[in-house]
Amino acid sequence: MPAAVVRHLELRRVALRLRQPVRTAYGVEHDREIALVRVVTDEGEGWGECAALPEPTYHPEYVAGALHVLEHHLGPRLVGTAVDRADAAMAAVVGHHMAKAAVEMALLDARLHAAGRSLATELGATADAVAAGRTIGLADDLGAACSEAIAAGYRHLKLKITPASDLSSLRSLPAGVTVSVDANGSFDPERDAAALDALDALGLASIEQPLAVERLDDHAALAARLRTPVTLDEDVVSVAAGVDAVRRGAAAAVAVKPGRLGGLRRALALGRAVGGRAWIGGMYEAGVGRAAILALAACTDAFALPVDWSASDRYWDEDLTAPHVLRTDGTIAVPTGPGLGVSPDPSVLARVTVDRRSIGPS
Ligand code: MG
Repeated sequence: MPAAVVRHLELRRVALRLRQPVRTAYGVEHDREIALVRVVTDEGEGWGECAALPEPTYHPEYVAGALHVLEHHLGPRLVGTAVDRADAAMAAVVGHHMAKAAVEMALLDARLHAAGRSLATELGATADAVAAGRTIGLADDLGAACSEAIAAGYRHLKLKITPASDLSSLRSLPAGVTVSVDANGSFDPERDAAALDALDALGLASIEQPLAVERLDDHAALAARLRTPVTLDEDVVSVAAGVDAVRRGAAAAVAVKPGRLGGLRRALALGRAVGGRAWIGGMYEAGVGRAAILALAACTDAFALPVDWSASDRYWDEDLTAPHVLRTDGTIAVPTGPGLGVSPDPSVLARVTVDRRSIGPS
């Protein structure tokens, strides 16, 4: 049988209103614009969601940039190319991991749909549900936000912090809930030494990316000084970078963001290379992207730590797909259907699409 060929790409920019604004050290997000890719191959069609955020404030890639690269550089190289040559075709374009990861997701979805196999099975998942976590932004009333998350069923909380954050209300957290903090690089090791010591006394599960990027030696020194595990996120821009951070003692565990690494397979490779000292980090994904990372996070040999993202209703009144729902035990089910196990609802898609482009004959 001749190799399946990529025939067509459809690119969509969609705009979803966040249920609540998300506040971090980088600023406030009210909306989540998302780039979506639909591929049509000889085997069928599949969907991919790009992790890029609307603005390049957290990561260099951003929605409009990813769509430009997909339309003008990746798309033309993919259309007419055999599916099993897609990675090689995309390698001609340097970087742009999030755009490439969206294509990888869509091609996997198409192929697995044709094969009648789920993404979780394809990746080697060993769990049928994933322990969810709830990230709490730089909220005014931390105690109330934590109480609401716990009441909703979350057992793992991650608080966005800066050196100015007041965490005094944390002492009242009930047993059975783990709390970590994410500083998004906002601390300075000298200026904020006392604040870091105060954090260390709280019994947190981890302190994520306390210092700025590319300060692995400083992170290693801090990790040696603190009892609380120091973990890294922004520094984990490649499989090699993640492995290096753990090897040098700069991180007890790393956040794995498949888009940032260039796809699901690289994410899996990093998680396994660090012996499971890894978790899947969220990028406010909608239903398509969330289905993919649920399948990935279910590979417990690669990702031994709870995810730091939550059910669909945390972010969206209306998701692109059937919602991923928090169960009473604080977990979210891994989709079991062919491919991603979900696809965008056509009526929702029609309402939220801001722009649509096509590459190749339809
Ligand atoms: Mg982070």
